[in-house]
Amino acid sequence: MLGGFSRSLTTVSSSSLRVCIVGSGPAGLYMADKILKAHKGAEVDILDRLPTPFGLVRYGVAPDHPETKNAMNQFSRILQDGRCSFFGNVSLGSLVSLSELRDLYDVVVLCYGAEGERDLGIPGEDLSGIYSSREFVWWYNGHPDCRFLAPDLKNTDTAVIVGQGNVSLDMARMLLRPASELAKTDIASHALSALKESSIRKVYVVGRRGPVQASFTPKELREILGVKSLYIRIDEADLCPTSADEEVLKNNRINRRVHELLSKAATSTASFPTPGQRELQFVFFRKPDRFLESDVRSGHVAGVRFERTTVREDVGSGKQIAVGTGQFEDMGCGIVLKSIGYKSIGVEGLPFDHQNGIVPNVRGRVLHDSSDLAEVEKGLYVCGWLKRGATGIIGTNLYCAEETVASISEDIKEGIVPSGSSSKLGKEGLLQLVESRNSIVVPFEEKKRECV
Ligand code: NAP
Repeated sequence: MLGGFSRSLTTVSSSSLRVCIVGSGPAGLYMADKILKAHKGAEVDILDRLPTPFGLVRYGVAPDHPETKNAMNQFSRILQDGRCSFFGNVSLGSLVSLSELRDLYDVVVLCYGAEGERDLGIPGEDLSGIYSSREFVWWYNGHPDCRFLAPDLKNTDTAVIVGQGNVSLDMARMLLRPASELAKTDIASHALSALKESSIRKVYVVGRRGPVQASFTPKELREILGVKSLYIRIDEADLCPTSADEEVLKNNRINRRVHELLSKAATSTASFPTPGQRELQFVFFRKPDRFLESDVRSGHVAGVRFERTTVREDVGSGKQIAVGTGQFEDMGCGIVLKSIGYKSIGVEGLPFDHQNGIVPNVRGRVLHDSSDLAEVEKGLYVCGWLKRGATGIIGTNLYCAEETVASISEDIKEGIVPSGSSSKLGKEGLLQLVESRNSIVVPFEEKKRECV
């Protein structure tokens, strides 16, 4: 919830305020920018477990979206502010603890995003050839943790992507766009080589609910439907809306536009693909039941068994949910990408709402727990996916940061957060701590031209 506060943040004269931001993705950088503007005496230190900044913009955004990646230019300028320092290679939870940071700074803002992944919890999930979207996206973006993932794209012609959000479309595009086009992007060179040699010709993007419930946005859907020489397959019967769907389509412009685009694609493609033509098939009303193991390649995935579903309203929540019909069908493939959303991970000493995968908070102020009467953790704040869950575009973090900065400013005004002459050690204390642990920090200057 981002409402209830004014976008024009007033400048507060806190002559010395030591602020630590953990995470240098969009949420962390927008936070830094807003704090520096709102508090003329603030010094902002941004920590990241990686040696390079920019998080999701560098490692999450698809390489063929250069206009989105351009946000790195704006973020570079923020890091070059004289009151802002970047400390790479500093991992919260392993190198430094949350309580140590809270001792060193007046304000700690956690913006480390959602680096965890959801499990489907079905048999066969540990077979080789099954990857999470996080792994696959990090792989093609050159993230150091997945640099050596080496997904086998040569021994199969079919991939199944489970989940129907924008990340599933990003990954489908990477698999299906001609490599000559990908070569013009900043895709990691190891991924480009693998995709050049890829034998994948068919990608299924499978949803457990219907086209009206798909999480695609029109721009991203239009983009994949326009990929050069791509054959699109959609079963027209799946596009027939129920009366509940009709209501959604009437009231929701995004869902309506997505439905229109899918309907147009279903009717405007030729009856059959031409030989060798790459193909994308949207499949609705199928929930994964188990992964199937190959007979010839022990321990490797050979397909997914799906249960057909219908969508009906859940009595308790009022949500449209997928309900199994007891009818099963197998979809053969040699690689599976699970694109079912990201989730945040807690660290020691941080209250965490495991059900929703977020830190309990009120407008960015961290709460002791998720109950209605929970007290605020003084001086501790959150922003970005850790605050509101893994949803939204890069720009959403700007509003999210404004909200959290407004809470910090209010708390300073109320005297909840001390300001004026900070007694905290800030970066001097941090550097001593890191040195005492025989580690080194990586500053921004050294890395600023390096992209992947
Ligand atoms: P998402 O939009 O939340 O989509 C997740 C998908 O996984 C949904 O189709 C969901 O189906 C499905 N799913 C979840 N649990 C499942 C289960 N147990 N079994 C089967 N399916 C399951 O997540 P995302 O695609 O990872 O995207 C994250 C955020 O980043 C989104 O807000 C997205 O718009 C944003 N993003 C934006 C761009 C862009 O603007 N270009 C690009 C990438 C990502 P249900 O709906 O049935 O739960």
